[in-house]
Amino acid sequence: MKKISIIVPTYNEEETLNLLYERLNPIIDKNNYEFEVLFVNDGSKDNTLDIIRKLREKDSRISYIDFSRNFGKEIAMMAGMDYAKGDAIIFMDADLQDPPELIPELVKYWEQGYDDVYARRKSRQGETFFKKITSKAYYKILQKLTKVEIQQDTGDFRLLDKRCVNALKKMRESQRNSKSMFSWIGYKKKEVLFDREPRVAGKTKWNYMKLVDLAIDGITSFTTSPLRLATYVAIPTFLALFIYFIYVIAKSIIISEPIQAFQAIILLILFFSSIQILLFGIMGEYLGRIFNESKNRPLYLVNEYNGEKEMNEK
Ligand code: UDP
Ligand code: MG
Repeated sequence: MKKISIIVPTYNEEETLNLLYERLNPIIDKNNYEFEVLFVNDGSKDNTLDIIRKLREKDSRISYIDFSRNFGKEIAMMAGMDYAKGDAIIFMDADLQDPPELIPELVKYWEQGYDDVYARRKSRQGETFFKKITSKAYYKILQKLTKVEIQQDTGDFRLLDKRCVNALKKMRESQRNSKSMFSWIGYKKKEVLFDREPRVAGKTKWNYMKLVDLAIDGITSFTTSPLRLATYVAIPTFLALFIYFIYVIAKSIIISEPIQAFQAIILLILFFSSIQILLFGIMGEYLGRIFNESKNRPLYLVNEYNGEKEMNEK
């Protein structure tokens, strides 16, 4: 029998977990697959961990990882992949914004040979107009900056085949943006539409500052092209220098007007500033490469796995 792991990052979700279990249970009860529900407790400060432990007591399909502190949802998803035992995994939020009822459809397409079956929002209930337009603009910019195709209106709710998981596990950078990683790995993708509901209980853990952070991480982890900005700025500056230089020289030769001090100053300024900007650009390119290579810390530390103390030796 094939095994499917449902990975649920959870941070202060005491109000939603039981509701989630109630809705998830009938779906994972169907016995054509062996399901595992893997909660990643991301340093919750409320009773989340106790609730997960109680759920595990009555249902052995439930496992959990407890982080040593809050590492953020992206990292929680990574840990989920490291610990998941399934032939496929499904990422799901704890707040029931991702309807469990969609799972059979995700699985159906997986059986048809798709590796990455992602759920795309038809509607975004409970989200402000401002959030909608900013996210649309962001996707546009991100798409412009990279050659990799990016899926719009798609969150983390998706099914991934084991080989996608293995690929993602090799991408251990610390500034993570899973959306761009899902795109980057490629493989056979399939879109499934759904209505995103408002969260059932509790409060969102996001605020605009976090979203801006995520957006910047998204761009900078995807591409170093912002660093190339300096190189691009240097080119028109050089051009301006060149044109002005020709103009001044030509004037002094043709109408034999002596070169004036202010013209010499402008030329010097243009010359040195374009050299400076260019050097900045070159430095940026190298910095970008160092940045891409230097991500070596463990991404997270686990306090316990299914009730057992984790020594983090791996
Ligand atoms: N989450 C997490 N760590 C965090 C913040 C959030 O694991 O630091 C989890 C949270 O418990 C939920 C999911 O990530 O299961 C999505 O969070 P939320 O619903 O607050 O975000 P939104 O849906 O508003 O974007
Ligand atoms: Mg939510």
